[in-house]
Formats: sequence, C-alpha cells, structure tokens
Amino acid sequence: MTTAQEALESIEREALDRLATLSTTAGLEGWLTEFLGRERGRVTQALKLIPTLPPEARKPYGGAVNRLKVALEAAHAERGGVLRAAETAARIEAEALDVSMPSIGRSMGHAHVLSQVRDELVALFKSLGYGLAEGPEVEDAWHNFSALNTPEDHPARDPKDTFYLPDGRLLRTQTSSVQIRHMAAGKPPFRIIAPGRVYRRDAVTPRHYPMFHQLEGLHVAEGITFAHLKGVLQAFAEGVFGSGTPMRLRPSFFPFTEPSAEMDVRCVFCEGAGCRICSHTGWLEILGCGMVDPAVLEAVGIDSERYSGFAFGLGVERIAMLRHRIPDIRLLWENDARFLAQF
Ligand SMILES: [Zn+2]
Repeated sequence: MTTAQEALESIEREALDRLATLSTTAGLEGWLTEFLGRERGRVTQALKLIPTLPPEARKPYGGAVNRLKVALEAAHAERGGVLRAAETAARIEAEALDVSMPSIGRSMGHAHVLSQVRDELVALFKSLGYGLAEGPEVEDAWHNFSALNTPEDHPARDPKDTFYLPDGRLLRTQTSSVQIRHMAAGKPPFRIIAPGRVYRRDAVTPRHYPMFHQLEGLHVAEGITFAHLKGVLQAFAEGVFGSGTPMRLRPSFFPFTEPSAEMDVRCVFCEGAGCRICSHTGWLEILGCGMVDPAVLEAVGIDSERYSGFAFGLGVERIAMLRHRIPDIRLLWENDARFLAQF
C-alpha cells in the first residue's frame, strides 16, 4: 500500500516536472501519451495494480489514482494554455510591421519621351498664345486632302501612300486636317496648335515609321504676314534648341500654303561645321510652313481678301530624336524599359 502510494506520488512529481520544462506545444502530445495514454499511460498502468492490492486498500488507492488523473489533466490544460499564448505572442511579434524600416524602393514610372517632348512643345506654343485643337484620326478625303488644296491626282492620295478604309475614309496623313475642321466650325481669328498621330504607308526604317506624331500650328487673322510666321518660328527654335540658335527658311512647296518654306536650324551636334547627322550641311531640317493658300481659306468659307494666315507642321519624333540624339526611330516604339528610363 505505502509502496503503491509512493509510486503514485513519484509519477505525479515526474509528470509535473516534465510539464514545467516543456517550452513548446509540440511536446504536449508526447507528455499526454506517456502519462495519461489509455493503453500504456503510466496512470493507466497504476490502475492495473488494483487487483494485486489487499481488498481494503483497493478503494482508497483507486480514489488516489483518479485524483492524480484529474490533477494531471488540469495541469496539462493549464500548461497548454500558457505555451499557446506564448507562441501566439511570438508569432505576432515576428510578423509585426516596423513602419520605421526603410522601404524596398519601388521606382516610379514617367511619361514616354515622345509625350514629354510633345507636352513641352504644347507648353511652348501655349506661352505664345496658341490654343489646343483636336480632330479625328479617321478622316475623310475632303478634310485631309481636298480642302487643303491637294489635287485629285496628287501622289499623296495614292493608296500606296495612304491607308484607306473600305468605306473610303482614311487614316489622316497630316494634322492639317484639324485646321480645316477648326476653321470650318468657327469664325476668325484663329490661333491654334493641333498635336496628334498621323499615318503614312511608309516602310519601317531607322528614320520612318508608318505612324508618327505631328504638331500643326495655324494663325489666321487680319493683317497676318510672313514676318509674323518668322517671329513665331524663331521663338520656337530658341525654346527647343536654346536661345540664339540660328535658323533659316528655304523656299519649298506644299499644296495648302503659298509661299511655302522649310525651316532649318543650325546643326546642334556640330554647330554648323558639318557632320554625319546634318549630312555635312551644318543645318537640320525641322519643319514645313507657309502662308495659308487663299484657296484653303475660301474652301472653309473665310474671306481671303480680309483674312490671311500662316501654318506650320513639325514631326514630334524628329524633334525628340534630335534633342536626345536618338539614332533610330524604332527605339521609340520597342517599349524597352531600359531605353525609356533614360529620359
Ligand atoms: Zn551637324
């Protein structure tokens, strides 16, 4: 009897000591099996001793085993609660966000180099008093050609050069169509720029792409002369290529302007000495311009005796390429983030 009681006390001490040394909930299961397991647990084994005890000792011993069982179950539940709480606290601590840590540093995107140059040009002409005008990219032949004084047999109308839709409309080949729409819809004076995409059936080469961006300017009012045009172009050249940039105008031909001219600025790469980029002329061709042909004014119902005006058009890609020394127009369309990130 005494030996059996002592054995129970020994099981209790050992069980409680072991429970106290467990540092994680992972050890709880093994402890439970060892002490309270239904088949081999040490408390179960102690119960099996009952038939070997003298009859008068069986009942108090059985009661002692049951009390031990209840005590150990309670100790197990309590220790489990403590360990789970500690583990939860540790996990929360580990997963906590430290808002004072430096960030990973995600890079910000920015506007495409063409958008940057276009926005810069728009801002420049706005500062010169020009308003913004827009028109459709799918255009009819009247707005794109006829109203712009382009003869029926002009090569620009050829399907080899222009994208036509099955219904006879076309993808505009120039933003000049916007001046026609703008003039037809209102009364002079007009002072607008029209930036936008245009389409031509060109093969893809380092200098040509079937879609590109133009920026068209138009100023129509009473008493407008070529001198006004030259003043605006000088302001444009200095705004884009730096103050004091020399420019020159060469006679040219466009159906919708008379007289017509092409504008060059002194080569920004060789400063006029002659290099590969300027074909050793010392000059870079920048835009086409001229006085609006009276026939164009009359086509949209404007009295050409009373009003006069000038127009100019430039390629945004060309300006961007000269400005940033981009050697191949295709780079602008390949969407290579390493290339675009430079601007
Ligand atoms: Zn040059």
